[in-house]
Amino acid sequence: MLKTLGICFLLAVVTPSAHAALEGIQSHDLDRKVQACTDFYEFANGTWRAENPVPTSLPRWSRRVASHNDNWHRQQRVLEAAAGKKDWPQGSSQQVAGDFYASCMDEAAVEAADIVPLEPLLAQINQARTLADVERSIRRLHDIAIAAGFYSSSTPGYHDPLHFVAAFTAAGLGLPDRDYYSSKEPRFVQARDKYLAHVVTVLMLGGVSEAQARTVAPDILSLERRLAAASMDGATAADPIATDHMMTFEQLKALAPHFDWEAYFDEAGLPRIPVNVAEPEFMRQFDTELVQTPVATWKAYLEWHLLEAASPSLAARFVQESANFKDRFPGNATQIKGRAQACVESTDSLFGDALAQEYVKIYFPPAAKAKAQEMVRNLRAALREQFVAVQWMAPKTKEVALQKLAATDVQVGYPDHWRDYSAVHVRRDALWLNVVAGRRFNVEQDRRQVGKPTSRDFWLPTPTPSSADGYLIVELNKMVLPAGLLQPPFFNPDATDAVNYGAFGIAVAHDLTHFIDSLGAANDVQGYPTDWWTDADRQQFKQRSQCVVDQFDDYFIEPGIHLEGERVLGEAVADLAGVHIAYAALRQSMRNHPVPVVDGFTPEQQFFISWGQATGASMTPEAQRRFISSDPHPVPRFRVIGPLANSPQFQHAFACKGSARMVRPAAKRCEAW
Ligand SMILES: [Zn+2]
Repeated sequence: MLKTLGICFLLAVVTPSAHAALEGIQSHDLDRKVQACTDFYEFANGTWRAENPVPTSLPRWSRRVASHNDNWHRQQRVLEAAAGKKDWPQGSSQQVAGDFYASCMDEAAVEAADIVPLEPLLAQINQARTLADVERSIRRLHDIAIAAGFYSSSTPGYHDPLHFVAAFTAAGLGLPDRDYYSSKEPRFVQARDKYLAHVVTVLMLGGVSEAQARTVAPDILSLERRLAAASMDGATAADPIATDHMMTFEQLKALAPHFDWEAYFDEAGLPRIPVNVAEPEFMRQFDTELVQTPVATWKAYLEWHLLEAASPSLAARFVQESANFKDRFPGNATQIKGRAQACVESTDSLFGDALAQEYVKIYFPPAAKAKAQEMVRNLRAALREQFVAVQWMAPKTKEVALQKLAATDVQVGYPDHWRDYSAVHVRRDALWLNVVAGRRFNVEQDRRQVGKPTSRDFWLPTPTPSSADGYLIVELNKMVLPAGLLQPPFFNPDATDAVNYGAFGIAVAHDLTHFIDSLGAANDVQGYPTDWWTDADRQQFKQRSQCVVDQFDDYFIEPGIHLEGERVLGEAVADLAGVHIAYAALRQSMRNHPVPVVDGFTPEQQFFISWGQATGASMTPEAQRRFISSDPHPVPRFRVIGPLANSPQFQHAFACKGSARMVRPAAKRCEAW
């Protein structure tokens, strides 16, 4: 399974204000009562945090979280403009995105249609008499991206990342993972009870009698529990090595002999080339269930999953039940989304490129793209220059690192080729039919990739180009920075270069280093799994990085509760390198593009303040405690302070004395490499 990482800290800076001149840092957010050389975190960000406490429903509040909100409003404005016009050419991005959004916002039409649009599929499930009928219904659900029994999709191969393979995954469970089905911990027991009640309610909303729903719901839960028991835990399921099980078509047939793979491959148009079965144990159990579970239970299970998947696109009683249930899980947001936000999200997930094509015309014009690309080029050049000087790495290892760096594919804003939706029929008055059309189109596109080369501008289906989240695919040596992420305040063409290098610049530099650090050491230039670091390299790195381990071991969030230096080492080193590289790139760029003093701050000061403001966040004490024992990143306070305390450039920018708290003594200063 492909392992993606969220872009490490796109914790963007504050809401933008319109100035004719270039914008500097957010001076209102500074706490000027605190000295920059004493506690830079408070100085850069103290007022913002005082004015932005953590909302009661959330563990954490940051500009990054807030910027997600800003982004869906931008997407909404784009969709409202497209939906406001009814005569776009059929199949154009405006027609597809606008009419879909209009059909979603037309609550009266959705209410009037009720469950009627779902009836043909429900009838097919209900008429099943034999195992073959059940399997046919599983195939029909997979055609519209509803997981049942298992699921399949295309992914770049683990052994051959230059080609797509079909991947068969453990799926079709209504609860998040296997602990929810088996753990005796009260929160899991409670989640199971709520799930069972939810299944009963949804089946009844779908027209099943109460007596029948109460009879079949426990059977559905039991079937899912048995499948879950054969599944991997979350961490193992996300491990590309543990989920690497390539097999031939014949081996797949032997693994699950009671499923009609011939029909599955024929109807899906899949070539009979080797596939990856992420969890063979799960697939074996699925096969056992095909034989041992009564057809009646399978029918109830399929009906339940269809209703559950369709609920957000059906009448209000389904929407409410679905939202209520999802909100009851611990950790989920307690606020139910409004209709508009839900419709923006479903347009984005089904027709992401249509929405994005319109989005970038307004929010990411060619000049913004050119600017972001130029910064990426400069950052890459600065990283290369730094890395060439590294002495401790074996020359051969260093050569591969430099080759990898040159080959790293950084996608900025949107792909070179948009998806062509001209074959999809989207109407203004039929939400569920539109959802089916979109799902079917996306599934067909996905299946068509199997066996084909992975193109250079391959993007995962989500996050989409107008989404506020970026990602790395370490195996593919690829970084994706969607247009929805490259927005103020994280990236702002109207701000000074110093502000942009301090936020976007450090983030990109940090993430570029992951392709060549111990994380990227598992894949070569083309993405093939090869360990290109030597043992001696690792030994050297360990020795040199002990300084960072010691530094972060010393930091604490409360008396007696310290950070774990070993746990945060990789990310803390990437921060240290990121700050250093982005600073060098800024200085280089300033030779041709000088940065003005803004609000009394020099370019160098703006750069460091921008980092402090981009990374700052409010967190509850409980959230901080959880964070330090589970997250590979240092908590925000020490992501800001940690690297700057090692930086002579920081000390110089703020004229800190050698004895200042923000300055580590020369003998204890750490370097990234
Ligand atoms: Zn990182």
